Amino acid sequence: MPRHSITVTAYHADGTICPSEHRHTTGGSPLTEGWTGRKRFLATCSCKQWTSNPSSTKTYAAEQGRRHRSDQLPAKSAPPSKGPAVVRELLRCDAEE
Ligand SMILES: [Zn+2]
Ligand SMILES: [Zn+2]
Repeated sequence: MPRHSITVTAYHADGTICPSEHRHTTGGSPLTEGWTGRKRFLATCSCKQWTSNPSSTKTYAAEQGRRHRSDQLPAKSAPPSKGPAVVRELLRCDAEE
């Protein structure tokens, strides 16, 4: 079973990657003169990238990664099909965005 390694990457408003050496507050405001703040976050896995669903918060991007990783685990007893409970949960997450 492949190992899922989740990475969260920060991007500036203009779409360029914000490297880790850029200092920001936890709210994404720049502390380094001349840099724009972090506008969005994308979670990537070794097998997947959430290119179409950028997140405005690092926490949400990390949650996407965690959810993906747990989705890849073999089902123990529950069927793998997506039932109404899963749909409700996804809608709830969208509303929080
Ligand atoms: Zn993966
Ligand atoms: Zn930056």
